[in-house]
Amino acid sequence: MIGLYVVVIRRRMLMTVILCLVWLAIFGIVLANLLPEYKLVVIDPGHGGIDGGTSGGGIVEKDINLKMAHILRQVLEKHQYQVIMTRTDDSDVSHFVPNGASRYRRDLKGRVKLAGRVRACGVISLHVNWHRDTWRRGAIVYYQKSETQGRVLAESIQEELNSVQAVQREARAADFYVLRNIVIPAVLVEIGFISNPEDRRLMQDDAYLTRQAEAIRVGLDTYLRLSDHPGEPGPTPR
Ligand SMILES: [Zn+2]
Repeated sequence: MIGLYVVVIRRRMLMTVILCLVWLAIFGIVLANLLPEYKLVVIDPGHGGIDGGTSGGGIVEKDINLKMAHILRQVLEKHQYQVIMTRTDDSDVSHFVPNGASRYRRDLKGRVKLAGRVRACGVISLHVNWHRDTWRRGAIVYYQKSETQGRVLAESIQEELNSVQAVQREARAADFYVLRNIVIPAVLVEIGFISNPEDRRLMQDDAYLTRQAEAIRVGLDTYLRLSDHPGEPGPTPR
């Protein structure tokens, strides 16, 4: 008789535990769908510290890159992105690679090393262009040649940047150290030409930089939507 009670109680306990587990599973699934999905992006403001990059009209590339990076960070964080920056102040990144050749090379390696530590959906390196033909202007997005995902991301961002600028540019294939060595989809955005007076004026205008940052964000959204869509080109591990 006592044995029968023990069996009944054990069965009831077991049922209670199973019901609790089922409830927890359902609660977890519902909660996971309600919470916003955060996507991780690495922003890499080019140059910094003693490496100023290009310059013109009294302004230096490294400062514009950093300012744009902070604006882009704010825009992305407003839209459920998590952001990691390779630098947040006027310093270079060479300290991530203590040993090796030149400081310049260690700086580039440091950026690649940092980007490789996190599982980001994309890397956006920010730079400023220069050309001896001062009429050249407009933002141009570069991707590593023969990297399909980088090209798709670059074209998606370029299309949006074209909608906020006076000239229409095309995304371009290139062979830059940072793009070549980062294993996740990476693009390098030259936000304008410091050698062109109008671009130079715009690059000092926070409202314009915010429009560019919004364009980059929309391009990134489009790329990620395409990559989630079955049958469409999407990011694959490289
Ligand atoms: Zn640069």
